[in-house]
Amino acid sequence: MSARDTPEAAAIRHNLAAVQARIAAAGARAGRAAADIRLLPVTKTVSPARIRLAHAAGCRMFGENKVQEARSKAEALSDLAVRWSVIGHLQTNKAKYVARFASEFQALDSLKLAEALERRLQIEGRGLDVLVQVNTSGEESKYGLPPQEVRGFLKHLPCFSALRVRGLMTLAVLSADHARVRTCFRRLRELRDALRQDAPAGVSLAELSMGMSGDFECAIEEGATVVRIGQAIFGPRPLPDSHYWPV
Ligand SMILES: *Cc1c(COP(=O)(O)O)cnc(C)c1O
Repeated sequence: MSARDTPEAAAIRHNLAAVQARIAAAGARAGRAAADIRLLPVTKTVSPARIRLAHAAGCRMFGENKVQEARSKAEALSDLAVRWSVIGHLQTNKAKYVARFASEFQALDSLKLAEALERRLQIEGRGLDVLVQVNTSGEESKYGLPPQEVRGFLKHLPCFSALRVRGLMTLAVLSADHARVRTCFRRLRELRDALRQDAPAGVSLAELSMGMSGDFECAIEEGATVVRIGQAIFGPRPLPDSHYWPV
């Protein structure tokens, strides 16, 4: 046992392996290869020290929902070769931060934000993979475009040359009613299938980012290519809205 092989490191390795096995099993049920489903570990409220353990366990990309938290972790971990995906709502005035350090942004939902990201990415000389967030649950509390507005929105995206559109993202309704959760995922896949036929040139809709710790198996059965998983890897979050993390 090396000095770094603490119980905490072992727990993260164990949880990661368990999640990967569940991804593979759900994929197999749906006739899909595990290699076609990307696990994005979500590290909101997880300390940089614990993110290092996940890196040591093989993770190379992490998801964060708040840009400030993501920025400070990217700085604290700048010695590691890791990439960052911003998966939460972004205010236009914070586009510059995402343009500086993120590899992927999963919550694009307005042209104003696309314009701000494009301008800042041009300044930085960078490109960004983006997913368009869709509100599949109809809940007012959720961000994302209503499904019927996505087609018109996609038409504008080819003119933003720094934004590489990869697909769609959604959050399902938070409910113990599995049928309602599944309906959200199915809606995203059906929307993607309908839009794919005549997607604008350069706009790929290959990716479907859907599914979190509580519902990722259902999402995979409905076609998820990216699952965003935090608590099943890092344990429960005691302070879900905190900007701070235990040291
Ligand atoms: C926190 C978060 C997740 C992961 O949720 P868990 O329950 O920890 O798996 C996924 N997607 C988004 C947008 C999040 O903010």
